[in-house]
Amino acid sequence: MKVNGHTGILGVLGCPVKHTLSPAIHDLLIEKFNLNFIYIPLEVSRNNFEKFIKGISRIDNFAGFNITVPYKNDVMKHLDEISKEAKLINAVNTVKIQNNKMYGYNTDDFGFIKSIELNYPKFKTAGKKVLMLGAGGASKAVAFALLKNKISKLIILNRTYKNGIKLRNALKMNFKHSDIIVEKLNFNYLNNARGSTQFHDLIINTTSIGLKKDDKILLDLKYLKGHNTLVYDLIYNPTKTGLLKKASAYGLPVLNGLDMLILQALKSFNIWTGIELENKLLKYIMPLRTKLRKML
Ligand code: NAP
Repeated sequence: MKVNGHTGILGVLGCPVKHTLSPAIHDLLIEKFNLNFIYIPLEVSRNNFEKFIKGISRIDNFAGFNITVPYKNDVMKHLDEISKEAKLINAVNTVKIQNNKMYGYNTDDFGFIKSIELNYPKFKTAGKKVLMLGAGGASKAVAFALLKNKISKLIILNRTYKNGIKLRNALKMNFKHSDIIVEKLNFNYLNNARGSTQFHDLIINTTSIGLKKDDKILLDLKYLKGHNTLVYDLIYNPTKTGLLKKASAYGLPVLNGLDMLILQALKSFNIWTGIELENKLLKYIMPLRTKLRKML
């Protein structure tokens, strides 16, 4: 990579960003398309966030940035325009800077849905009954993507019941007629009558539980044995969380969050550069998977 006076700057803004894989993804894309860009980590503490965000669009060669925890929502009030999806999800993960104006987007919903389509092309989201563990930041984009794609039912299981209700209320504002229910997270949910297993086509872990080796498993999957429920964990490091290991042991199809991470990045790259990748997602995803798997 050769930096010169014409180099456009891209980056990922968050705190912390030391473990981010985004520079590795965008480095490879920049190299592949032979573009004069550089993608850098932008670690900005809470105290400096306002000053940083107010100044960044004044740098003429700053082309855009991704936003990660904890600023996906805070960034919104500083933007000149926000896409419809990002407004509905109430979070921005991609900002494009053009003529000193900042435009916000959310590409997580795209990443999530496309990751299922690419890995399980026969799994059609429409009409499916979905059980989602968690009601935090990532859950919003996932739930939005699923409801937009017309699932028939969403069951949210969350440790803090009122956070689940808050998410349900936010979703209901835009998906008035959707069937969304909230239950308190309970390991035995699938074993009791209300959670009767035959109704779940997809189970997604959107909590942060599973990141650590000794994390507990949040849901007993035993009763899914013999079913075809797809078990998806947004976590990609470890590549197989305790939940996914159990699911595999019961013969269930599984998916981790690596492709979602890559696909949301491909969409961000498209927003910044205008380069169309959607028709060739598999072509671009392959080398990125190989590169990132070596880093995990
Ligand atoms: P977040 O906003 O902090 O939400 C955390 C969620 O986990 C909440 O629902 C929280 O429940 C639940 N939780 C936390 N500790 C728990 C515990 N001990 N027992 C049960 N539930 C617990 O986090 P986030 O930003 O949504 O991220 C969640 C995960 O998704 C992270 O692991 C992140 O790496 C992953 N992620 C992956 C991608 C991808 O591209 N693959 C994208 C985004 C996020 P309460 O409401 O009770 O606190």
